[in-house]
Amino acid sequence: MKMLGLIGGMSWESTAVYYRLMNEEVKSRLGGFHSAEILLASMDFAPLEAWQRSGDWDAAGEALADCALTLEGAGAQAIMLCTNTMHRVASTIEAAIGVPLLHIADAAAAPIIDDGNRRVLLLGTRYTMEQPFLRERLERGGLNLLIPSHPERECVNRVIYDELCQGRVIEASRAAFLEIIEGHAANAGVQAVLLACTEIGMLVEPRDVSIPVYDSTVLHAQFGMKFAFENGPEG
Ligand code: GLU
Repeated sequence: MKMLGLIGGMSWESTAVYYRLMNEEVKSRLGGFHSAEILLASMDFAPLEAWQRSGDWDAAGEALADCALTLEGAGAQAIMLCTNTMHRVASTIEAAIGVPLLHIADAAAAPIIDDGNRRVLLLGTRYTMEQPFLRERLERGGLNLLIPSHPERECVNRVIYDELCQGRVIEASRAAFLEIIEGHAANAGVQAVLLACTEIGMLVEPRDVSIPVYDSTVLHAQFGMKFAFENGPEG
């Protein structure tokens, strides 16, 4: 099993989900007392969130690249950035390290395409929905993405930062998300929805929705474990 370096804390609510999923995957593959070999660098989200809001992506990129280098120095054989939004600075991180960055868009696009879905609703932070950094990479993977309307994006973004990143799962917000998803499924020929924010899975579960739901947290965690086991259990 290869050692994975996780950059987490954005938010820690979803990093905890990664940690659980990856350990569950190792347990199901190897059984017994086996657990995932992980180096976790959990960052303080407050300055990073402030840099997002002020548009200081350079400062965010520098901090995350430093963190990735620390993980590499400690023995990580690949780096995972446990957030979609911060993939805005993926190239800064990649330029700093000598091991691969396991990109969340690559983790998400392949299974959706493999299932025969093309037209996909993208839900995430306003940065992820409105800026090209993740959409372009997903569309290069073969997806045809649709983003919600402006008021819907405001709602999704507010729920992510004001509720989910702070551990608050609110029923009315779940209903609002389901209404957004079902509206696009019914009116815009959307075949599937991609939860391109690592906290949305806390709110929306596949069984609540009439179209297939792809959760970037789950897919990214699986992608990481696939890398860890690429050459068999010994890695
Ligand atoms: N975890 C979220 C994401 O996947 C949002 C928090 C952040 O801005 O990093 O985009």
